[in-house]
Amino acid sequence: MSTSTNAERMEKIVSLCKRRGFIFQSSEIYGGLNGLWDYGPLGVELKRNLKNYWWRVTVHERDDVVGMDGAILTHPEVLKASGHVEGFSDPMIDCRTCKAHLRFDQLIEKKGVKQCPNCGGRDLTDARQFNLMFETHVGAAAEESSIAYLRPETAQSIFVQFKNSLEVSRKKLPFGIAQIGKAFRNEINPRNFTFRSREFEQMELEYFCRPEQGTELLEYWKEERLKFYENIGISRANLHVRNVPDEERAFYSKGTYDIEYDFPFGQQQCWR
Ligand SMILES: [Zn+2]
Repeated sequence: MSTSTNAERMEKIVSLCKRRGFIFQSSEIYGGLNGLWDYGPLGVELKRNLKNYWWRVTVHERDDVVGMDGAILTHPEVLKASGHVEGFSDPMIDCRTCKAHLRFDQLIEKKGVKQCPNCGGRDLTDARQFNLMFETHVGAAAEESSIAYLRPETAQSIFVQFKNSLEVSRKKLPFGIAQIGKAFRNEINPRNFTFRSREFEQMELEYFCRPEQGTELLEYWKEERLKFYENIGISRANLHVRNVPDEERAFYSKGTYDIEYDFPFGQQQCWR
């Protein structure tokens, strides 16, 4: 299908979602806030059904998974330990010709020379790092000791509550902790409707095991997730498993895969 047709399909989906009360632009009557969405009467029901179904099959119907619900505001030391304070950033470039702010990976390359995708300009600034985390202050004083971050993903509270969760649930390895909740990323270019937004909800499962069981369990969970998508009506023909190469994997990972879906805007990750 051609690119323009896919762009038209996206336009149709966005306007249908608004018209039927699924998804509205956030703060719309004041001009809207880019990358943020409000779920309307039908949208909230759809989203809740999906979350409830996921929770049922992932937590309630299993003996080896417990749930948790962590705070959104996160201690800076947690996110220093996870590497997010140092490394959770996009390299940014400015085009001096048309003044566009661009992510490094948006540049186009012609004959080995980087160019601005808007104007074709080659007069570009050096890359600088831009942290994607939203920062805020806890308490009245705005000194550094009171900085907190809106969590950029739900995983960290699962990790820092691992010991507590293991002790109170009396589980033994292998076992998992699941969480559904909001996460926040100050995306430079929110796009593709709700797909790349600044505030979003994640369904996450961290499954803990002994190293020697890892590869086998990774395969098991890959199949479980594919089944989940099929059970909510998504055809397996539109799902693709991508093995994440060494350089993209977290330092602790022996193996990682993404489950990607054929969206109108391309094949994109929906589960890792
Ligand atoms: Zn330009």
